[in-house]
Amino acid sequence: MKNSEAIVKYRDVTKSFGDVHVLKGINLDIHSGEKIAVIGPSGSGKTTIIRMLMTLEEPTSGDIFVADKNLWKMEKKGELVRANEKHLREVRGDIGMVFQHFNLFPHMTILDNCMAAPIHVKNENKEEVRERSIQMLERVGLGDKLNNYPSQLSGGQKQRVAMARALVMRPKIMLFDEVTSALDPELVGEVLEVIRDIARNEDMAMVLVTHEMDFALNVADRVLFLDQGVIAEQGTASEVLEHSKNERLQSFLRRFR
Ligand code: ADP
Repeated sequence: MKNSEAIVKYRDVTKSFGDVHVLKGINLDIHSGEKIAVIGPSGSGKTTIIRMLMTLEEPTSGDIFVADKNLWKMEKKGELVRANEKHLREVRGDIGMVFQHFNLFPHMTILDNCMAAPIHVKNENKEEVRERSIQMLERVGLGDKLNNYPSQLSGGQKQRVAMARALVMRPKIMLFDEVTSALDPELVGEVLEVIRDIARNEDMAMVLVTHEMDFALNVADRVLFLDQGVIAEQGTASEVLEHSKNERLQSFLRRFR
């Protein structure tokens, strides 16, 4: 897997909010099919890294490439340029994101929630999209809730809809931003189980920002520890979570034991 072409590349990416230098130089390749967990203290910039890939946040400097084309580019004169609209549309179609707070459309049934983007953004055939949406909702265990509205579902069910909705787009890469941290503890397991199932059975790349260390150990091919603005440690899940000598990482991990 590591030998495959990187589909996403970050090169010397920095991000500051005013005087706060959150990211100080991120270099990262995400390979096709790779499952990456991003861990680190609160406020270390984990969410910012993935939001830049969704173009929800712009880097302060550096380049981000998706499929070898610049998503964000630093021009020599120091000006940051975003990809043109055509490329942006392609990139957004390749990347799916699941947020902490579901972001479902409240006035649509869960089936319509899943169907909206492929039909309106990608202009896909409605019947095909309907079939795929039903398949994905069954996949996440919600085949009996197609015509329910988000308000009729539990938090865990809403989060599973959000996953089905992202999967219907058939992204090459899925980003999960602390998707269980807004859930009641008893609902966390069902959502992690669905992600585990997706990770095992889908060949898309996945980037998971998470505080669930056992889950990371179980699912990730590679774990990144983000600390003080840089990727302070990375390796296989076992190398990083079980055998690292990095003291800040060890002290971070102790909080989860
Ligand atoms: P993490 O996901 O690791 O908790 P974030 O990427 O959410 O970290 O945030 C990193 C830092 O950047 C935090 O200190 C946060 O307060 C700050 N930050 C994030 N977004 C903004 C914003 N839009 N404006 C100002 N500060 C921000």
